[in-house]
Amino acid sequence: MTEETSKPESTPSPTTGSTVGPKGKRPFKRREIRRKVCRLCADKIDSIDYKNTQYLRNFVMESGKILSRRITGTCAKHQRQICTAVKRDRNLALLPYTTRVK
Ligand SMILES: [Zn+2]
Repeated sequence: MTEETSKPESTPSPTTGSTVGPKGKRPFKRREIRRKVCRLCADKIDSIDYKNTQYLRNFVMESGKILSRRITGTCAKHQRQICTAVKRDRNLALLPYTTRVK
């Protein structure tokens, strides 16, 4: 027992590093989890007005879909309000139900 060069725990092996290993591992590290802040809470908006269409457009995809909480980071309370407000706007033709996608 004189030479112990390739012990996986003690030495930083190239396969477990952040770069691409020979086995085709993922090239990037796992993303850091970052807590998103609800924009509406940050702006201190208690209730969303359905007439504020320009603001609601921030939470709607170009195709007309409502963006999910995971993407926008809004809290549950505000997401519910966005949902109803967007649906009202759709009924009033202020926001689209869908847009034609080529
Ligand atoms: Zn909120």
